[in-house]
Amino acid sequence: MSSTPTLTFEVNRSKVRTPAAERERLLADPGFGRIFTEHMVRISWTADRGWHGAALIPYAPLTLDPGTSVLHYAQAVFEGLKAFRQGGGGVAVFRPDRHAVRFRNSARRLALPELPEEAFLEAIDVLLAADHEWVPSAAEHSLYLRPMMFASEVTLAVHPAVNVTFLLIASPSGSYFPRGVKPVSVWLSEDFSRAAPGGTGEAKTGGNYAGGLLAQAQASAQGCDQVVWLDSRDHRWIEEMGGMNLCFVYGRGNQARLMTPALTGTLLPGVTRDSLLTIGSDLGYATEEGRISVDEWRHGCEDGSLTEVFACGTAAVITPVAAVKSARGAWTVGDGGAGEVSMRLRRALIDIQRGAALDPHEWLYHVRVSD
Ligand SMILES: *Cc1c(COP(=O)(O)O)cnc(C)c1O
Repeated sequence: MSSTPTLTFEVNRSKVRTPAAERERLLADPGFGRIFTEHMVRISWTADRGWHGAALIPYAPLTLDPGTSVLHYAQAVFEGLKAFRQGGGGVAVFRPDRHAVRFRNSARRLALPELPEEAFLEAIDVLLAADHEWVPSAAEHSLYLRPMMFASEVTLAVHPAVNVTFLLIASPSGSYFPRGVKPVSVWLSEDFSRAAPGGTGEAKTGGNYAGGLLAQAQASAQGCDQVVWLDSRDHRWIEEMGGMNLCFVYGRGNQARLMTPALTGTLLPGVTRDSLLTIGSDLGYATEEGRISVDEWRHGCEDGSLTEVFACGTAAVITPVAAVKSARGAWTVGDGGAGEVSMRLRRALIDIQRGAALDPHEWLYHVRVSD
């Protein structure tokens, strides 16, 4: 296979721009995934030409033929990462290189073409050059970046698409916890599975989410905020919470030990998870990738050895888990509040993302935004 030559991005800026006052009004309370910036990046792929037609274009609805393959067979992948306003006024994206690699891995699993990492980064550069004013500056606000790729071939025949579209859109997002970090309650789903060995659990693909909605509805009906997924074979080992990874804290203070379920192939390899394992050991905690069963979770909380549990992901950073409910009973984690270790890790990661702390692992990708 020949390597894709470097893509040239055509820049076609929107003629009508949002007035600054209107933008500031929208950025004051952006919520999540509700408003979008003024541009997007599109790149096309065809089996015969490879990647081509890279362009920054005005943000606009798509026109799709009803026979477009993705609408029927869900051959699609996505990513989620954030750009943060830095103390000095600049803009930095958190670990885009890792997201680029995961995007390629997800694409490979879904039989989609792999977008070269340089093109993934260049798309971000080009979009932020046009829309950097949409990166909010309020604490805990950010610009959420959503790269995605889907089968745009028009056909009802089932095969890997020969015609694929990549898009990058951006959505200013507010604090996940506008009134302070609030621990969540979880329902352990024993009726449904998110992923099975050999399936697509490791890939960031919409189908995994579609298959999880009914379990999430069941969790809500049980009065819980979120669903926790167990392994599909034994319904015994803890995997993930909704669209976030989980981490278990044993012990207290400097003696605390972090354990997150190992990446068995059915878990999504979170960039936040990976970053927190590193930050945890930088802070002097023992860290480990292992496994924990439902019974061990419960007994650990009852005997006090398991002190905190949190979920982690790009959208909310760290979400403490305070209450657990299953068909076989319910229990509380720690004192039911946000744990000390969880909150310390949360602060440390947010400080790196905002440029308020040193970035020893060079996780920030500083974007050129002068225009
Ligand atoms: C995206 C995602 C995560 C978290 O990944 P991050 O890179 O930390 O945002 C965890 N689980 C699932 C199922 C996901 O889709």
